[in-house]
Amino acid sequence: MRKILVAGNWKMHGSHAMVSELLEGLLAGSESPSNADMAVFPPFPYLAQASSMLEGSSISWGAQNLNPAPKGAHTGEVSAAMLLEFGCSHVLVGHSERRSIYGETDEDVADRFVTALESGLVPVLCVGETLEQREGGETESVVQRQLDAVLNRVGVGGFERAVVAYEPVWAIGTGQTATPEQAQEIHAFIRDKFASQDDIIAGQLRILYGGSVNGSNAADLFAREDIDGGLVGGASLKVDDFLAIRNAVG
Ligand code: PEP
Repeated sequence: MRKILVAGNWKMHGSHAMVSELLEGLLAGSESPSNADMAVFPPFPYLAQASSMLEGSSISWGAQNLNPAPKGAHTGEVSAAMLLEFGCSHVLVGHSERRSIYGETDEDVADRFVTALESGLVPVLCVGETLEQREGGETESVVQRQLDAVLNRVGVGGFERAVVAYEPVWAIGTGQTATPEQAQEIHAFIRDKFASQDDIIAGQLRILYGGSVNGSNAADLFAREDIDGGLVGGASLKVDDFLAIRNAVG
């Protein structure tokens, strides 16, 4: 019913040579049949290269962020229209590094989500709790607050064409993957929340898990009922590791 999506967040990694090698490897590897869709999220300067290499392939590409303004005095920022010119179909919004390092608030994230949706990009909304919040029993309330900030703006209908990524902050880049049970519990919580408003949208919504996904743990995670793929950081930077995740899909 829901097709698995394996999405690679390259963060601030890359060079012309690395992008060529990585994408050539992924293109070759993506020729074998799979039940997974693949998408990559390079840094802005490599979107042109991604676009020219991936055009016409089964691999989608997107950006790691966007500015909600259409244009103007926003030094260092990039608009939705610019991303569309480089063939992006997706954009991450609210990654925990954007929230914690660059101070993006729930409202900022909602603004970006609205802009992405209005411009035809598929927003991948990242949510998740810190270790302190988990230990304080606040996981569900944090995730709910992050989702509500967007739901209050776009309603459940705004998720008809969006993706949610549950990324516990304590699992990102730490090697400390959430267990499939821990992840499934929060994924089910997220889906139930949407289901209470619209069964059909909830049923088709792709909810990705992110946080130290690799070739060894992906199959167990993706086998859970409400885990529809992964948002992958470190392991998306190596051809073999990323393809192992894609090929872990049953
Ligand atoms: C991420 O960048 O969103 C991420 C989940 O990173 P990693 O897979 O390295 O934990």
